[in-house]
Amino acid sequence: MYNVDRIRQDFPILKERIYGNKLVYLDNSATTHKPQSVIDSINDFYTKKNSNVHRGAHYLSQKATSEYENTRDKVKDFIRSENLEEIVFTSGTTESINLVAETFGRKNIKQGDEIIISEMEHHSNLVPWQILCKRKNARLKMIPFDESGKIMIEKIPDIITDKTKIISVTYVSNVLGTINPVKEIVEIAHEKNIPVMIDAAQAVQHMPIDVLDIDCDFFAFSGHKMYAANGSGVLYAKKEMLKDLPTYKHGGGMISKVDFDNTVYEKIPYKFEAGTSDIASIISMGYAIDYMKKISILNIMEHEQELMRYSLEKLKGVKGLKIYGNTSNKCSIISFNIDNIHHYDAMMILDKMGIAVRSGKHCAEPIMKHYKIEGMIRASIGLYNNKQDIDRLISGLRKVQEMHN
Ligand code: PMP
Repeated sequence: MYNVDRIRQDFPILKERIYGNKLVYLDNSATTHKPQSVIDSINDFYTKKNSNVHRGAHYLSQKATSEYENTRDKVKDFIRSENLEEIVFTSGTTESINLVAETFGRKNIKQGDEIIISEMEHHSNLVPWQILCKRKNARLKMIPFDESGKIMIEKIPDIITDKTKIISVTYVSNVLGTINPVKEIVEIAHEKNIPVMIDAAQAVQHMPIDVLDIDCDFFAFSGHKMYAANGSGVLYAKKEMLKDLPTYKHGGGMISKVDFDNTVYEKIPYKFEAGTSDIASIISMGYAIDYMKKISILNIMEHEQELMRYSLEKLKGVKGLKIYGNTSNKCSIISFNIDNIHHYDAMMILDKMGIAVRSGKHCAEPIMKHYKIEGMIRASIGLYNNKQDIDRLISGLRKVQEMHN
């Protein structure tokens, strides 16, 4: 039994009053709230364990290092990777993608080469590749999606050429909610020896992940979208890919030997972890994983899927409401507009009722261009949302309509 009332008790922020109303938080795709165990882990780190990692042999440093490395182990298991060396800590998805675009790009992309992304990418999985292409005089190509928000994978064989060097696609669209067939995309790409990067920022918090089964070469996600603290993230990369990449940021922590003429770098993954990271936040990812595991990611998925079906059914009753992203394989992310009502106005009115949704382009302007619109309202569901939240959203939307009549 999924006890959502019990789960809600774990998230202190849900007790906050917003303009005098109980909070309905439906902006989980932007960031999730943190359970008490994650909040406590930060306090605990700074109160009892604070020290730098991998740099000292004293008691606290060893303690911090051992928690840090223990987190790497938890992350490895969480995405079903086999090797600790394949888990690089970053500040988030954006940094993970930039790391690959910068290093893979420096080594492997030359004039005339091609990089493929999709039409539904978040700007984080578009701009780094676009900059790389401009720098190298390479070409950025995209896989389109159809009206329902389904990626047109049947077009990939025609988009690939002998100049294609990498494909980078999102697992789940942060706007349409579409769950992309990443395993099939990897299969198509690998037939031509093209590596694939997956942006999993909107996937890891909603469904079980198995990077070995997907067989992707790179896989990126953020801690703050999976109930951990801000400033934490992961790049998973196959060992042989990671070993082959040149260095990214340079400084302490990523070197094994330095003199004035030359530097010998650390082994992977440390070679990509220069400087002092947000240690407490990274450790909090381990606590967030423990938290999700305790509920079970399958139970979370089932709960969110059920709530999404409930929302879609209820939203049908709101006159003039159009949903973007209607594929059958969809995560609990629902974007929509209401006839003759600006998305920003609707969001502002909902906010005054204590209902947090997002409005705008959602960092995915090509999707707005596809539908020829300026923006959308997005309601995104997390593990602590319940039917009352959805009912409040629906009555809030009715109120928005009344105010516009
Ligand atoms: N990719 C997708 C699909 C996202 O939804 C986001 C965040 N909205 C990002 C990348 C960037 O994540 P972050 O800001 O945590 O680096």
